[in-house]
Formats: sequence, structure tokens, C-alpha cells
Amino acid sequence: MSKKRLGEMLVDSNLIDQEQLRQALRIQEKQGGKIGEILVGLNLVDEKTITDLVSQQRDFKRISLDPKKIDRRLLSIVPRDVCRKYRIIPYMVENDMLVLAMDDPLNTFAIETVEFVTNYKVIPGIAEPSKIEEFLAMLFGKPSRKSIHETPDYLPFEASETEIKKLECNDDSVYFDVEKILQTAINDRATDIHIDSAHGESRVRYRINGVLVDRFSIPESKHEKAVFQLKLLANLDTNAEEINQSGAFSSEFQGKDYIFKLNLIGTITGTNITMKVSDETSAWRNLEQLGLTPHELAVVIENIFKPGGLILVCGPGGIGKTTTLYAILRKISSSEKKIIAVERQAEQMLDYISQVKVDFRKGLDYPATLDKVLRMDPDIIMIDELPDAKTAEMAIRAAYMGKTVISTLYTRDSFEGIVRLMDFGIDPFIIADSVNVVLSQRLVRTLCKSCREPSKLHDGRIVHNPKACEKCGWTGYASRTGVFEIVSGNDITRDVLLTTTTVESLATKLRDRGTGTLWQKGVKKVLTGDTSLTEIVRAIPKMPWD
Ligand SMILES: [Zn+2]
Repeated sequence: MSKKRLGEMLVDSNLIDQEQLRQALRIQEKQGGKIGEILVGLNLVDEKTITDLVSQQRDFKRISLDPKKIDRRLLSIVPRDVCRKYRIIPYMVENDMLVLAMDDPLNTFAIETVEFVTNYKVIPGIAEPSKIEEFLAMLFGKPSRKSIHETPDYLPFEASETEIKKLECNDDSVYFDVEKILQTAINDRATDIHIDSAHGESRVRYRINGVLVDRFSIPESKHEKAVFQLKLLANLDTNAEEINQSGAFSSEFQGKDYIFKLNLIGTITGTNITMKVSDETSAWRNLEQLGLTPHELAVVIENIFKPGGLILVCGPGGIGKTTTLYAILRKISSSEKKIIAVERQAEQMLDYISQVKVDFRKGLDYPATLDKVLRMDPDIIMIDELPDAKTAEMAIRAAYMGKTVISTLYTRDSFEGIVRLMDFGIDPFIIADSVNVVLSQRLVRTLCKSCREPSKLHDGRIVHNPKACEKCGWTGYASRTGVFEIVSGNDITRDVLLTTTTVESLATKLRDRGTGTLWQKGVKKVLTGDTSLTEIVRAIPKMPWD
């Protein structure tokens, strides 16, 4: 079968003409998107026709999604995050092979992933994109995980009027969504969580800005299950039901550690729980506790102790950049050095460090604040981010002149971070001479070692999948660890930068020189049994150069 492009296939089948194709291509050039979706948007052809045509021409199995035909057992072996991410529906098993409904059956990575996690050979099938969306919503509901950044600020009196949602769990599973209770507390910036037992339904309430707000109800039958899991988390005696107990545990959300201080009180209707939420441990991890392998740690230490230069931590929000930044800062700080931190929110008080606040209202934007700081002649400058070209230019010039500068960039990975510096218009020679190290990271959950299940891949390698046991509170996971992409300054040479035009070309070059990419490092953590494949698929973007 020839690999004709969709547009040409439609023209050949007389469904659109050349001019209409050119029109769609012009739109694609300007706005991006898939050609099929653009043609549908222009009302030139409908989704069903395109799907039928691709299925015929490319020999993909045509799937007319029917809720009655879905083999629901498959939904429990392909994680919903994977289904959502690749817009796929594991549909049925035929001749011991898994039929996968996809809007893009050429997405070999999605196919490999499903084969990897299910151990079935996959038959890629095609269905209309809108049908797939519809089925994803029907099977899994709307995506439930929201990061802090997506969550609006709650006003307590508004929140109390929102619908109180029932927290349910599958009847055939002992897993209870305690994580959801904790996550919601973090998202809503609650200071306390109250879980009060009652006949019928327990209430989960949060104290937000000093006001108690009803958020969830738990069926009576599930209440003690929630209590049990919280006791496990806090290492309390799970048998001593009637005795009042207190304890604490920490849990990581969006790269920050939170402490939950727990009080349990027996009442006539059951156990009442109050939890105090605080993030006092945030940023107090040491460099050795971030999840770096001994080799990675050695590379980082070698580079951060070089006299002068830029140390850059890159990544999107919520991946623990600040924790890493502070861990590095603490490692290199000493009382003999003058250290100044430039921050929008000066939260993390550290010894020996003067903090200067960026204050836009007083006209102190980043460049103005940095200018002030440079005149104070520090040895080490920490800038919480490089938001614009001017700040980046000043920071890197200071590094070039012998200051140690530590900062972050809001990019996908370290390769994009380096290219961003060039896009800011900074001379590649100066970048090559002043960058000590660029790192990027993602946080992945580590498998519970008591219950993880080995599974053999087609090539004989062993990976592990999460299961559930008492030790991990029936979650299958124990804690979190970082996956790191570390570009040593030695590899960022003038030659490399001068021949770099895109992130892809830089990434390919650095990969060939031995830089392990986020994805490769994630796969390593899967093969050592520290985490699962689904977890890295969830947390790490796979790029063309991986
Ligand atoms: Zn376990």
C-alpha cells in the first residue's frame, strides 16, 4: 500500500478538488492542526468519509464504536491516562490480539505503549475522532487531575455552594481515593481537612481561608476504608480502632512536599479525622535526596562547583524545579560566600542568604532588581526565573564575569532551555563559555516494592506493573522520585551551538554525545523496577529524538 497523504487521497477520490486542498494546506501552514480536521472544519468533507477512506486505502480495520461491544475488562489493563493521552479505546480481543480504536492508527508509539502494558499484540483500527472523544468522556468522565495552575482561586462562600460530590470507589476494588482528598486540599489551599463520620454519609470538609467548606461525601460503607488508608500512611496502628491516635505523613504534590498532621478521634458513629496541612518541608530536600543516580549526582556536583557560570533548571510548572534549585543552592552555599536571591515570592528562608523581592508595583521588575543586586557584589546569585531576554542576558553576563548564577527556565526540557537562551539573542560564544550545567526533570511515582508485579516484554526484558497492597495503601506506588536530563557545560560547545538551528537538531547532537534524555532516563527507571511504564508515559513527553 503506498503511503499517499490524506489530502491527495481525497483529491484522487474526487471528494475535494486541488484548489480546496491548497486552501486547507494554507490554513494548516498558518494555524497548524491536522489536514483532516481542517477539511472537516471547512465543511468540505465529513469525518465519516475521511475515516472510511483512510481505512480502505491504508487497510486499517474500520471500527464503528458501540458501547455494547466494548470489552470492559480491557479498560482495567490499559490505564486511562494512556487512553486519554493517545485518544485510543482498547476495544476488543480478536484471535488473541487487541483491537485498538484510534483516530490516528499511524501513531506507532501509542501502539507500542499498549503492547508494552498489556502484552497483547495490537491491531490498530480507525474510528472518527469525535466518536473517540465521546467514548473517552463516557468511559472515564472528564479528566479529574488538575494542577494548581489550572485551579481558580476559591472564594469560600462560593465553594460552599458548589455541588458536593460523592467520592465513590469501585465495589470490586479496595482502593479508595484518599489521594483525591489530599490533592483537592492542596489545590484549594486548605489548611485543614475534616473527615467526620455520620450515619449514612461521611462529610469531607476543608478549611479554606479560615472557613469550613463542604466538598465531598463518602458512603458510610467506605468511611473506615479511608480511615484505614490514612492510618497506613501515617504509620499508625490499624487495629486500634477505638483509641484516639495522632501521627503525620508527608506527600508530594506538584513537586512540593506537604505534611499532613493527623488526629483520629473515636465517636459513636465511627472515627473522625482532622488533618493539618502544611508545606513546611518544601525545598528542604538535599541534592542527594532528589533521585539522581550516583553518576548523575557526580556530574551535577562537578559542574555546580565550577567557579562562576550559569546553572539552569528547566521544565514546565509543577515538576519540582524550585526544590532542585534550592537543593543546589544549599550544596554550594557557605558562610564565606555572599549569596543573594532574587525572587518574586521570597518564601524559603535560608541561612547566609539575603533575599531581594521583585516588586512590580515599585517598578522593581527582574532587570531592575538584578541590576540592584549586582551592585551588591554577590558571589552567588539565585534568580527564581529568567522571564525575559533582558533578565537572561544580564544573568548570563554576570555568569560570564565570574559570578555563579542559578536560575530556572520555563521550557519543556534542557535542550529547549539552551535554544531559548539563543532565541533571547544571547551570543552563542558567551553561552558556550558561561553555562556550567543545564538540567531538566520530571517527577514519577515509585512502585511499591511489596506488591509490584513483574511482566515480561516481547524481547525478554522484565518490567514491573503496579498492583496494590496494605503497605502502599492500595495505590501500588510508594513515593516519588525525579527523572533527570543533565547537559554538562562541557558538551555545550561553540561548535555545537553554531550548528544548532532547532531544538531537535541540538537534542540529537547532545544525545549522540551521550546526554541521556528524559525519556531514556525514565525507561531506565522502568527497567530497574523503580517505576512503571505507564507512569513514565504519564509524566514524560516522548520526543522525536528519544
Ligand atoms: Zn503495595
